Amino acid sequence: MFKKILIANRGEIACRVAATARRMGIQTVAVYSDADAQAPHVRACDEAVHIGPADPKDSYLQWERILAAAEKTGAQAIHPGYGFLSENAAFAKACEAVGVTFIGPSPAAIEAMGLKAQSKRLMAAAGVPLVPGYHGDNQDPGYLKSQADAIGYPVLVKASAGGGGKGMRIVSSSDAFLDALQACKREALNSFANDDVLIEKYVQRPRHIEIQVFGDTQGNLVHLFERDCSVQRRHQKVLEESPAPGLTPEMREAMGQAALAAARAVHYVGAGTVEFIVEQPANGEMDFFFMEMNTRLQVEHPVTEAITGIDLVEWQLCVANGESLPCDQSDIRMHGHAIEARICAENPQQQFLPATGTVMRLALPACAQFTVAPIRWDSGVTQGDRISPHYDSMIAKLIVHGETRSQALALMDQALSETHIVGLHHNVHFLRALVNGPSFKTADLDTSLIERDAAHLFAANRLPVHWWAAGALVALIASEQSVVKGHPWLAADGWQPMGGATRHLHVTAPTDLQVAFWVPSEPGCLRFQLDALHEVSWVPLAQDSWRITVDGVQQTLRLVPCRSGVTVFMREGSVDVTIQDPLNGAFGVDAVAGGLTAPMPGKVVALRVAVGDRVAAGDVLAVMEAMKMEHTILAPGAGVVTDVFFQLGEQVAEGDALLQLESES
Ligand code: ADP
Ligand code: ADP
Ligand code: MG
Repeated sequence: MFKKILIANRGEIACRVAATARRMGIQTVAVYSDADAQAPHVRACDEAVHIGPADPKDSYLQWERILAAAEKTGAQAIHPGYGFLSENAAFAKACEAVGVTFIGPSPAAIEAMGLKAQSKRLMAAAGVPLVPGYHGDNQDPGYLKSQADAIGYPVLVKASAGGGGKGMRIVSSSDAFLDALQACKREALNSFANDDVLIEKYVQRPRHIEIQVFGDTQGNLVHLFERDCSVQRRHQKVLEESPAPGLTPEMREAMGQAALAAARAVHYVGAGTVEFIVEQPANGEMDFFFMEMNTRLQVEHPVTEAITGIDLVEWQLCVANGESLPCDQSDIRMHGHAIEARICAENPQQQFLPATGTVMRLALPACAQFTVAPIRWDSGVTQGDRISPHYDSMIAKLIVHGETRSQALALMDQALSETHIVGLHHNVHFLRALVNGPSFKTADLDTSLIERDAAHLFAANRLPVHWWAAGALVALIASEQSVVKGHPWLAADGWQPMGGATRHLHVTAPTDLQVAFWVPSEPGCLRFQLDALHEVSWVPLAQDSWRITVDGVQQTLRLVPCRSGVTVFMREGSVDVTIQDPLNGAFGVDAVAGGLTAPMPGKVVALRVAVGDRVAAGDVLAVMEAMKMEHTILAPGAGVVTDVFFQLGEQVAEGDALLQLESES
């Protein structure tokens, strides 16, 4: 076996590969860019070599530097992970040329599967079923249109060199064909420097089901069953599971055989995935067609590891080392049901726009990392890390494995409810809505599931108000009693613990509320008035988690203070509570040398004061809007407005001075 390998990737997949290598006693070398100097994947490896600036084209795609790093450290093989150089035949060749083993298929196999039209012709010859379509060389628009007419509309025009869901156009009628063709060719030329297209029938209610295959240098080939990746947004996978719900043993067998035929046609060695599109006619049998082959390890491989108990990275290393596959097809069994969710830094409420920012707080469910378990967490991000714009937005993959699909669903729901992330937009709540949604729960799957269930999936989080209000109050009192150190609430002075007096709080998010509450002299309890009078008591657990009792019911809440208030996590979900305490000044506003600064980047949507105005503590000075939320800026104390540094409608950056307030005293 190799003594030392280099991992030419970053993030969770680099950590994932390192974990198996370590378990096998193989030393690892990481490579990293400027942006990743402190990244977990660097620390996960025994050695690390810097390879350039943040932009992947200057670092992770610089294969001369990666080969130089391998030489310098004496690495005998290179694992490319996925993305980056993993499907780059030239890189695989370059490795061969310098005598370093590329952990993946042959350059010829990568090349053969690289272009969609070419691979489809190869698959047709191998007897693999294809979506009816035209994959030929004739690119004359009139000819392509006659082909589309013959296939029947709707058709899909696809860039042959395309990937990542780009360069695809649905055409619904003959009249619209030529315009769509031009648009597709333009996009293909811009994105892939190659404007060849292919045309295929647009499959109705399609499911994406793929087969994991594995080959060795002795010519043995096996498949490790399927993964259903139908739940997609922007043609990218969100949830993946195995086995595929409703797949009959006959169809599983047929798809497995088709995938093996595809792999055999290119003498495939190592881990690969054959993607199929599955048609589900309203009445009639499901049918499957070859879509493409990914000649690498797939993001969702842990789902297959869960149901088969096989470590795919271990197999990759063994096969790359020239060993034969450790078992036959008949030895590979599947057990139970596994689901993976991709936790990403993105905003589901804004077309899944990727988000950047610092992961201020990351609390995980009880789980194992990078290894098969009922709850598995694969990630290259830890608390305090920054999600930068340079790389993909995936924070982690959460994988669950249960005896049945419904058990796996319940585990996923539980694990997501215990995944607490603060500091940037993420999709944890969306994923929870998805796994609990009407379609996924009943396995009513197709690639438009997210659009179909939008009403349910994008509905606002509705959590019991007395619980989150109780959580916010406990956080507030804890901060005042200095249990939570460094909390912004502490920064404002002027408040002394007040025994049994009544205090009033103004909560502005998620709902506008006035809360009256009382803190009796004995510690650890309070009462507050909302719709009714509520009794609260609490006991601190570890760090920011608390066992809280509200009206006789106990549960564990996590209370994470942030600039503008507190994020309350409970079993049903989480909510960011913004509180203004008239006694204590405004939360989220720092009084810096008499000036007031913006608590976050945003737009000034209301300005309530002018220079010369006299204000009292708690008066509204301005309202800012950021991330679709309004934040009210209150006067921290009495004073006179001596300067206003912005105008209505203006965009301000976090920390910008908003206005100057001169203290009365
Ligand atoms: P799958 O492997 O299941 O096909 P996707 O197609 O969604 O999954 O993601 C694979 C692609 O995503 C890669 O080809 C790459 O472009 C990109 N990608 C995702 N994560 C990373 C990462 N950590 N490093 C580099 N590329 C990544
Ligand atoms: P990419 O290289 O961008 O991953 P694919 O050919 O794998 O391109 O297609 C990506 C996605 O587009 C699929 O997972 C599926 O959701 C959809 N798709 C592809 N081909 C068809 C088709 N013929 N009919 C309907 N949907 C399709
Ligand atoms: Mg694909």
